[in-house]
Amino acid sequence: MKSFDYARASSTADARTQGTAGARLLAGGTTLLDLMKCNVERPERLVDVSHLSGMADIEVDEQRIRIGALAHMSQVADHAAIRREAPVVSESLWRAASAQIRNMATIGGNLMQRTRCTYFRDATGNAHCNKRMPGSGCAAVRGIHRNHAVLGTSDACFATYPGDLAVALVAFDAVLTIEGERTRQVKVEDFFRLPGDRPDLEYDLEAGEIITAIELPARPALRRSHYLKVRDRASYEFAAASAAVGLEVAPDGKTIKEARVALGGVATCPWRARNVEEALAGQPMEEAVFRRAALLAVQGAQPRAYNGYKVQLAPKVVARALLAVGDLA
Ligand code: FAD
Ligand code: SF4
Repeated sequence: MKSFDYARASSTADARTQGTAGARLLAGGTTLLDLMKCNVERPERLVDVSHLSGMADIEVDEQRIRIGALAHMSQVADHAAIRREAPVVSESLWRAASAQIRNMATIGGNLMQRTRCTYFRDATGNAHCNKRMPGSGCAAVRGIHRNHAVLGTSDACFATYPGDLAVALVAFDAVLTIEGERTRQVKVEDFFRLPGDRPDLEYDLEAGEIITAIELPARPALRRSHYLKVRDRASYEFAAASAAVGLEVAPDGKTIKEARVALGGVATCPWRARNVEEALAGQPMEEAVFRRAALLAVQGAQPRAYNGYKVQLAPKVVARALLAVGDLA
């Protein structure tokens, strides 16, 4: 691991000043330190923000849910009002990582986690990886890619975005507050960049900027929501495919007024499935309707030799999640 300086920020303004190019903010450290050990991240300075006050608050009212970026995953997952008003958020966190990591890790750090692609994390740094070293190629094309993405891919990179929470946030139009030279608000969906020909550029965040909070607008579909994650083992594992869904039902109790659907584990970024949502709006709440619409989730998928199973799996996960939230499971 490369040597680095350590600085303890006294405020968000101080963190911004010290968090220049070459520096990294340190929150829970549960993924940044791993990446430093395998030489993917080589910061000159770590700016510790983990103790900053006022950035871990959680507020829930009739209009919105606001979560400070330094709130711990376990704190948000277990928050009574979040479990009631946004079950999908709580469930996505409970199904992520391990109890120890959730107690340490923060919401801001969770969004910023990077792909688990083996070649990207290769400790020798010798693997060809366009995300790690632009222009060096992609070893995964002819290598191990069973867990790689089938949606949002490019010739340069098809690594999966591994996080769970962001999938729930994208489905429900969550917005980040980012403080930098000016404070700005960015939809979580726009925060993540598709790989295109620059897979190394992953987020809409500049040096010297800090995520301070996440806001979710309250809506009936958020109240009636669910996160379903399918993985190789029942805990401590990333998604093979996951779905964040929500339903608002019309006053007749039978017709879908609004549906929300996003996928995880199958795309290069948290993937909103608007085509599924549109196919469901105005339809009756019936199993056949859910299953038919769910097939659209993988429209445009580009499977390779070992990850084609995701094209079959993802619609089944979406359908199961919708059936559960529609009380038809
Ligand atoms: P850090 O490691 O402190 O930071 C991560 C990155 O975010 C750094 O680049 C840092 O500079 C940046 N950063 C942190 N906070 C801010 C901020 N406020 N503003 C701007 N930049 C910021 N996640 C899942 O979703 N699902 C899983 O199943 C899962 N399984 C895991 C299994 C293992 C074994 C491990 C090690 C991790 C797993 N994770 C999983 C990832 C885990 O959730 C992340 O490690 C954690 O959420 C990161 O949060 P942190 O606070 O520790 O971030
Ligand atoms: Fe690198 Fe992306 Fe290829 Fe993995 S899939 S080796 S992250 S370029």
